[in-house]
Amino acid sequence: MELVTAYNVTDIRKDFPILNQTVHGKPLVYFDNAATTQKPLPVIQALTEYYQGYNANIHRGIHTLAEKATAEYEGTREAARQFINAAQREEIIFTRGTTEGINLVAASFGRAFIKAGDEIIISTMEHHSNIVPWQMLCEETGAKLSVIPITDEGDIILEEYEKLLSEKTKMVALVYVSNSLGTINPVKQVIDLAHGYGARVLVDGAQATAHLDIDVQALDCDFYVFSSHKMYGPTGVGVLYGKKALLEAMPPYQGGGEMIKDVSFERTTYNELPYKFEAGTPNIADTVAFKAALQYVNNIGKAAIGEYEQELLAYGTEALSGIPGLRIIGQAREKISVISFRVEGIHHQDIGIILDTQGIAVRTGHHCTQPLMQRFGIPGTSRASFAMYNTKEEIDRLVQGLHKVRKMFA
Ligand code: PLP
Repeated sequence: MELVTAYNVTDIRKDFPILNQTVHGKPLVYFDNAATTQKPLPVIQALTEYYQGYNANIHRGIHTLAEKATAEYEGTREAARQFINAAQREEIIFTRGTTEGINLVAASFGRAFIKAGDEIIISTMEHHSNIVPWQMLCEETGAKLSVIPITDEGDIILEEYEKLLSEKTKMVALVYVSNSLGTINPVKQVIDLAHGYGARVLVDGAQATAHLDIDVQALDCDFYVFSSHKMYGPTGVGVLYGKKALLEAMPPYQGGGEMIKDVSFERTTYNELPYKFEAGTPNIADTVAFKAALQYVNNIGKAAIGEYEQELLAYGTEALSGIPGLRIIGQAREKISVISFRVEGIHHQDIGIILDTQGIAVRTGHHCTQPLMQRFGIPGTSRASFAMYNTKEEIDRLVQGLHKVRKMFA
């Protein structure tokens, strides 16, 4: 019989030393996980071990430290491959994060395959990182950018999406999970519909990868991008997954060391995948430590984490809904544990500042989704986003905090 360890949030919290502190004299409540998550001890230890034990440049060295560093770096590639169930390690390209992954695809795929008159489709709820690179490409090429509208609840309107699709569509770039609304988009349906027109699909997995089971082969997406720092790993590392045949057909993104096979002044030939897209010395330490984050999540189990976070979402949604004047922005059919809200008559910035004085960290503003805020006719929201280590008691603290905020403005 398989042994199932009960989800023990108290034990999990012990692995995150940063949580055990006071801010303005109050125990920290960290609800800014959609911006970046905190790091467990194995990740912090992996960073220290790398710098204390085997810091060396990778791939070209023949000495022991270089070989160890290379093995660990490539070990993360294999761990990331398994984490999203990519078919081959060559399909895993290390980047600085989601933003760089999208820029890479827009620049490289765009240069090779997108021309004037072609169309690119995104949605109303995209992060600026999945808007601006496509706008830049459209400006350069004369391609057209179209936007899938959303409902007042925060779901994309699939029928409207279907109307935008045509033989001219070359790329659909969609966020899997909205950082501002929490919406889980029906990406599989979006992908299948796009493929019906021969279009390629890039999935922005920045918010999805820590919360949902990801299987890029089952999704059949052409590109999938995500960031380590939003899933308990270090900042400055991310992954671009791309189907091998597509990556092979795409020109390099940056030129330099590592991405070449042979260089002469007459002609340069390029390295094979994945190195063709990894010019220069990469972020070795953080990439190595990212493996510890992937292992940490695997050990606890995505299903258990997801179930627990849904409990927090349900609890938080009910608790916050009871606060007079509070309106939740984003009530999609399927959501991850993100609650964006506005409180009547109180600016989101004031809410954030006052909550901070009580030790509660939330994010306020447009969350890098200005067009989405325009869709709702609001300048911004306050956002509480929950991770595997948050608790219902912390949500109670947020509710008490918001009551205090309201009293101050009464
Ligand atoms: N896409 C989404 C949905 C995000 O939430 C974010 C970050 O907040 C990004 C893209 C950009 O990620 P990064 O800053 O790690 O490149």
